[in-house]
Amino acid sequence: MAVPLLDLKLQNLALHGELTAAFDRVLRSGHYILGAELEAFERAVTPLGGAPFALGISSGTDALLLALMALGIGPGDEVIVPSFTFFATGGCVSRVGATPVFADVCPICFNLDVQDAERRLSPKTKAIMPVHLFGQAADMDSIMALARKHGLAVIEDGAQALGAEYRGRRVGGFGDFATYSFFPSKNLGALGDAGLLVARDEALAEKARLLRVHGAKPKYYHHLIGANFRMDPLQAAFLSVKLPQYETYTRQRQANAADYTARLKALDGVVVADPNQCGCRTGPTSPSDARLVLPVAYPHVTHIWNQYTLRVPGKGRRDALREHLTSRGIGSEIYYPVPLHAQPCFAPGRVDRGPWPVSDRLAAEVISIPIFPELTEGQRSEVVEAIAQFLASGR
Ligand SMILES: *Cc1c(COP(=O)(O)O)cnc(C)c1O
Repeated sequence: MAVPLLDLKLQNLALHGELTAAFDRVLRSGHYILGAELEAFERAVTPLGGAPFALGISSGTDALLLALMALGIGPGDEVIVPSFTFFATGGCVSRVGATPVFADVCPICFNLDVQDAERRLSPKTKAIMPVHLFGQAADMDSIMALARKHGLAVIEDGAQALGAEYRGRRVGGFGDFATYSFFPSKNLGALGDAGLLVARDEALAEKARLLRVHGAKPKYYHHLIGANFRMDPLQAAFLSVKLPQYETYTRQRQANAADYTARLKALDGVVVADPNQCGCRTGPTSPSDARLVLPVAYPHVTHIWNQYTLRVPGKGRRDALREHLTSRGIGSEIYYPVPLHAQPCFAPGRVDRGPWPVSDRLAAEVISIPIFPELTEGQRSEVVEAIAQFLASGR
């Protein structure tokens, strides 16, 4: 039985009638930019976003860009970004003309190492952008303490963590802004590109709202230089259909993760990452060198499992496992094979404040396996058996 990394059709075809009706409603409305359909979705999604003001945006990337623009970050400014994340987090900083300064991450939860971030601050640092990677919150208490101490703005990149919680509060409500993505493979996926920006402060939210439409109010009177950052009402209508299912999707992901962990940790040489080794506050720790390390959900957060990401220590072993899974028809992906500090577009030497030992190590050791909500018991067994076979072969 083949097990894809992801099966988007399964989830969307289950809502075929409702999605078709949503399309028909937008088609017949004759209203294809902004308007009631988008506002209805913005209202409906607000409780999940963690902050009182929510704006539908053209993508998660554009939401990051818009947040930086609204905060007035630009040339001469530096922004702290984790090195181990999706490209957009760092790319947007460069796009506004500022300099991304890459900080290392924690080997246990994969999130920003706050002590390392503090070491990389300079008088030019204006903001810090924690990412809630793979669906688990970054250490927001220490990030907010650091931001307050040094007067930094905070933008939470919540692209993979819509609705995740940190100490009983939704992520997104800590920073000045938070951004989300509805890219089809995210936990709440549109049928195309879409994103969300949320803010705690009304004035900042209004500034972002203005920048979303080329800074114009009313139309053709431009107060600020913005851009076109609007979410299509069509995507909003689709998302409004899927939103009521979101809790179910999340529960299914959590159940999949719990099942994987229970079955994989029983195998020889497999351990669960130890939360006591978390390096978010303390800097690099010595994470386990077991043959396979499973991801852990910290007790003080609600992990929503955008990815279930294993570590496979030992030279070449991660790639060997990936080949083995592929040969058995099992999908997997490397999120992410190259840390941002090593990307060719961020010319080394521009801001050289390495090293980034954990990011480098994770890039070589991580592999994400299928975790999508519709995964069946049989498919999970197939994945577990394939991993067991790999380990039993002595690799
Ligand atoms: C997906 C993602 C983004 C970008 O979102 P898009 O909607 O694809 O533009 C940004 N940051 C992270 C961490 C992501 O996973």
